[in-house]
Amino acid sequence: VAKENAKNCYALYTPEMHEKSLKFLDMEKDLRNALSNKEFILYYQPLINLKTGKIIGLEALIRWLHPKKGMIAPNEFIPFAEGSSAIIDIGEWVIHEACRQLKQWYDMGLPQVYIAINLSARQLRHQDITDKIIHIVNEMGIDGGNLLFEITENVAMHDLRQSIHTLNMLKSVNMRIALDDFGTGYSSLNYLKKLPIDMIKIDKSFVQDITKHHDEKFIAKTIIDLAHNMDVIVTAEGIETENQYKILREYDCDLGQGYLFSKPLPAEEIEELLLSGKGFTV
Ligand code: C2E
Ligand code: MG
Ligand code: MG
Ligand code: MG
Repeated sequence: VAKENAKNCYALYTPEMHEKSLKFLDMEKDLRNALSNKEFILYYQPLINLKTGKIIGLEALIRWLHPKKGMIAPNEFIPFAEGSSAIIDIGEWVIHEACRQLKQWYDMGLPQVYIAINLSARQLRHQDITDKIIHIVNEMGIDGGNLLFEITENVAMHDLRQSIHTLNMLKSVNMRIALDDFGTGYSSLNYLKKLPIDMIKIDKSFVQDITKHHDEKFIAKTIIDLAHNMDVIVTAEGIETENQYKILREYDCDLGQGYLFSKPLPAEEIEELLLSGKGFTV
């Protein structure tokens, strides 16, 4: 069967595919060049305590400032980076840069917030990941408790035992783990129970449904109750309207993130926001 499959693969290998793989190689080269030319930048989006309206964390979100194409969103290049080892180096840069920024804000005396960093599957599976993270944190003089790592359901499913081991290592130095885009993956509740997570982030699609018909809006409420029953904090992603905010507060959702509060902003603007001590109570 394997032989037959292999044969079929050859038969299916069209000129377009060849072009695609060349383009892919180009992309990897471009990404590596971008890294050495310092074309990546981190934006930060505030995470709000829905009860107090205070900023308690910031999610680091990468952008590519391309010299010709302008600002490129992560969805346009992270999937390519994830297809190669480029994601390891880009991911390491993200962790390093986020920690450097956090340390700078700390030294400036800004109110303490945690930083959330997205980890992709390949990074989580990488042998040295915990050593690297701990090395960076020590180098920067940061407390592990100020870092939170976001993974998606599918990321951890790749190799459950190895993932759990890595996550536990991070937790042993006080770092926290969030399950991102919750509800959009393929995980079962059994699997959810096994992961050592501190937070669930409800995907924005369910937040958008919240003001719709009853059978759609109750998904968000169900996720919130599930998380609380598991002793896990819940964050709602993609809050855009005051109505969504109001309902989520009624549902007892802990934290929120979305354009209603703030878009992802460059570091200087986050600085102003933190300095102003501005809250977001509606
Ligand atoms: P994510 O981790 O789920 O991040 C949330 C995304 O939702 C961000 O998109 C954010 O700008 C967007 N968002 C926030 N509030 C709202 C809202 O109210 N409405 C809407 N419609 N969208 C909102 P962004 O920055 O384009 O990032 C997209 C994805 O790229 C992220 O999704 C994450 O999966 C990935 N990504 C970003 N930075 C990194 C990184 O440093 N490493 C890795 N591995 N992935 C990253
Ligand atoms: Mg995220
Ligand atoms: Mg998300
Ligand atoms: Mg998302």
